[in-house]
Amino acid sequence: MSGYDKDNIFAKILRGDIPSHRVYEDEATVAFMDVMPQAEGHVLVLPKASSRNILDADPATLPALIATVQKVAIAAKEAFDADGVTIMQFNEAPAGQSVFHLHFHVIPRREGIPLKP
Ligand code: 5GP
Repeated sequence: MSGYDKDNIFAKILRGDIPSHRVYEDEATVAFMDVMPQAEGHVLVLPKASSRNILDADPATLPALIATVQKVAIAAKEAFDADGVTIMQFNEAPAGQSVFHLHFHVIPRREGIPLKP
């Protein structure tokens, strides 16, 4: 499978066809809460540009995306009084990707609490 499916779940969320709990938005990026959090405060950060994953992303869109990842990581660590932050990003199903619009996971971490599977 390859290419961008404009009806993937995150494309629908970006269009407003499916609700989400948005915590950040600017002209190039959006962040919203994950519906099945692996830890309290699990946020997803997406570019508005239509990329399937990092492999087909326009490099010009990446600086804004990583800047939002950093902003959200700092804010989530503070908001959830976390000890650290895990940042994850998967490309294609064999690598763990299940929704095919580029996204980063930003997950506040507490000492001694493992991620939920
Ligand atoms: P991936 O495995 O593709 O990196 O992660 C996709 C993430 O999207 C998963 O953590 C999953 O819980 C989350 N997710 C799937 N469907 C929805 C949805 O409809 N709304 C939100 N907010 N998150 C979703």
